[in-house]
Amino acid sequence: MLPIVDLHSHYVTSVPDAVENYRRLAASDQVHRVVVCALDLKLPFSSDWPYMSSFNTTNQQLEEMIRQVASPKLVPFCHVDPREADAPRQVEHWVRQRGMRGVKLYPPQGWYPNDPRCIEVCRVIQELGVPVLFHMGRVASHPGLRSEYARPIYLEEIGLACPKLKLIVGHFAAPWYFEAIHIAMSFPEWTFDLTTSGHWNTEAIHYACKVPWDPGIKRIVLGTDGTGADNLNRVRETREMLQPGGFTEEEFDLMFHYNGLRVLGEELPARK
Ligand SMILES: [Zn+2]
Repeated sequence: MLPIVDLHSHYVTSVPDAVENYRRLAASDQVHRVVVCALDLKLPFSSDWPYMSSFNTTNQQLEEMIRQVASPKLVPFCHVDPREADAPRQVEHWVRQRGMRGVKLYPPQGWYPNDPRCIEVCRVIQELGVPVLFHMGRVASHPGLRSEYARPIYLEEIGLACPKLKLIVGHFAAPWYFEAIHIAMSFPEWTFDLTTSGHWNTEAIHYACKVPWDPGIKRIVLGTDGTGADNLNRVRETREMLQPGGFTEEEFDLMFHYNGLRVLGEELPARK
């Protein structure tokens, strides 16, 4: 198996030894690239639903971690909230001046992807030529978050406004896999990531690969939602779940390596 290109992982500052974990992950020869996202949801702590309030890592904190680990294998994505008036300028700043190589957007915060403010942010991201990772599909429960905002149908407006945007549909929009596949048909630059529930439905992955006149398997990219400590375990679990689905070794190489490299805009190494 080729070393992994993981397009979806998080730097969670509350995880003990988070920086050390990323240092160890980057040192592994099983790893080629790992996208690490900042995600600052500014959620109040909820004792009933504590999990999501731990996503409070700022772009500055991610930048500092990347500086400390200093590995070309780690690819930082900044997070912005399109409801903030200067969000388009923030994106430009973090990509042009601060070395971020993509953007993470989180609709369950309470905004729809077809909101004109989000379209404006996406226009800037398209112009910069970097990918955008949308959280799509069900979100872990918290009083401040709703899955409703993360349905793929709301991405259509972005595809129409920004047809060249490299848009990653996070978690394959589970459980709305088929909605994602059908909306994506007009937009060949979109990909679906296998993060968490994104790989639970093998039938949907096969379906996506067989749509006529579509990029098919080129759309499927690896993601883990890892924290640096568990990315490789999650890759193993993903592979174990997909293994009975009849994918060939060549298809695994596309999904777990080459497709992700293309999204990151990196030169593909010569294929044997
Ligand atoms: Zn995530």
